[in-house]
Amino acid sequence: MDCVFCKIISGDIPSFTVYEDELVYVFLDINPSTNGECLVVPKAHYANILDIPTEVIAHIHEVSKKVYDILKNTLSIDGLTLIQNNFYGQEIKHYHLHLTPRYKNDSLEQCFNKDILIDVEDIYQKIKSAIE
Ligand code: AMP
Repeated sequence: MDCVFCKIISGDIPSFTVYEDELVYVFLDINPSTNGECLVVPKAHYANILDIPTEVIAHIHEVSKKVYDILKNTLSIDGLTLIQNNFYGQEIKHYHLHLTPRYKNDSLEQCFNKDILIDVEDIYQKIKSAIE
């Protein structure tokens, strides 16, 4: 399969390994939003949230706690934001969780366009029809 992350996991493409176990591989994002951004990737190829078993997601989150400790102890991060893109916004079609270290001066809040937001109540009315 022509997948960049499968090639990283197999060692065909080099990466900066942060953690590895039987199920997941964690490495530094080559184009990070903040210093120390990591990607937690299942070794098996699952494309997205609809594809990956829930137990594997649970393991990815357990591993994320270990990586948080590593980042806290080495980079003195102030927080950690978890992002996982599916379909639109997903560049690599192999499930991965972004662990984005937060720093008090990182200004990451400014990355979404707040001008396109509409009232939350109106949003709920649109969603409601699907849950009644
Ligand atoms: P996404 O848009 O959620 O699919 O994010 C894909 C991420 O993979 C991006 O943040 C890229 O910078 C990162 N990425 C792509 N190729 C590599 C690579 N060879 N090594 C490390 N990170 C990569």
